[in-house]
Amino acid sequence: MQPLNCETCGRGVLVEKFSAAHTSIQWTSDASECPMIRDAVQSVGDHRRGCSALRRSIDRAVERHELSESRIDLPTGPDLPRLH
Ligand SMILES: [Zn+2]
Repeated sequence: MQPLNCETCGRGVLVEKFSAAHTSIQWTSDASECPMIRDAVQSVGDHRRGCSALRRSIDRAVERHELSESRIDLPTGPDLPRLH
């Protein structure tokens, strides 16, 4: 996991990027302290929306290659055990 700060609210998170579509975020502070998330919870009652500014921060960090995608090594080739 790599540390990243939301460029809008400055909250710190740890980010693990598995692929373009799969990002795991772990808050190092209380997620409800993020003003974007607090607004979402208050207006729609949904805290899973997350912080769109944070998501933008992550995308930008990936573009700048500050955040690298972690690769999950899957066994390939002749070493792959056969199940029969
Ligand atoms: Zn935020």
